[in-house]
Amino acid sequence: MQMKFGPGGNSESFKAAGYKSSLDMPGYLKEIGLSAYEYQCNKGVKISEKSAYALGENAKKFGISLSIHSQYYISLSSKEEEKRLKSVDYIMQCMRIARVMGADRIVVHSGSAGKITRQIALELAKDTIRKALIQADSEGYSDIHICPETMGKINQLGTLEEVIELCKLDERLIPTIDFGHLNARTMGGLKAPYAFEHILDEIENHLGYERLKIFHSHFSKIMYSAGGEVKHLTFDDIEYGPSFEPLAEIVVKKNLTPCFICESAGTQTEDALKMQNMIMKVIDNENFGD
Ligand SMILES: [Zn+2]
Repeated sequence: MQMKFGPGGNSESFKAAGYKSSLDMPGYLKEIGLSAYEYQCNKGVKISEKSAYALGENAKKFGISLSIHSQYYISLSSKEEEKRLKSVDYIMQCMRIARVMGADRIVVHSGSAGKITRQIALELAKDTIRKALIQADSEGYSDIHICPETMGKINQLGTLEEVIELCKLDERLIPTIDFGHLNARTMGGLKAPYAFEHILDEIENHLGYERLKIFHSHFSKIMYSAGGEVKHLTFDDIEYGPSFEPLAEIVVKKNLTPCFICESAGTQTEDALKMQNMIMKVIDNENFGD
């Protein structure tokens, strides 16, 4: 297992180079030296089976790992049972297309914690994930990982602790640590190296090293205000952060092999490459130190 880097969705540069179809992303990413691609189903699973299959074939050919970002309107913690059951259905739609594509990770937002207590929201979300796992087993998708994501707005379910609690349900659940989101919901709490290390230590302590080693990650700089996340920025931002450098050091030190998906606004491919270069630099320095 190796660390992987790639964009969430299609970058401006990909479009500017004249490409129109996501099917061309694997070849494009291989050419610039990246190794992962998160396909966006955030507005629904709209890709045909035929295209999903072709995307998967290209990904295999160019050595690109595929993950899927599930629908934004999933609400695992909704007060309404009907909405929770629908959310199971949305996850299953992602699973089915993931199988066709050869993707083995589905990133999922937990939903709101605005109108009920966080504890009730968490219990509801757990129950919904349990249902999704049972359904996945019955349809033969036990090998596809659901990856609950840490969220950027304070009224959303998805603190680090909440994501860890959700992942405790089953060993196949992998946390998606969105560092930009965690930085936004803590008003810039991710600056010092120990703040990053604390996150990784918490995952290790509660979920074990094996799961920490392969965690899924979103990384981008994100503007925030009193409610948390406002909007995604690019790596040119010097005001909000977080910076990737401290994380790069710790990931190498702990010998981890996460999948890093960059979600910069438009420059996600270029910024994913910057992240990869920062990791390479840390590794080179370590080897030199020996
Ligand atoms: Zn997300």
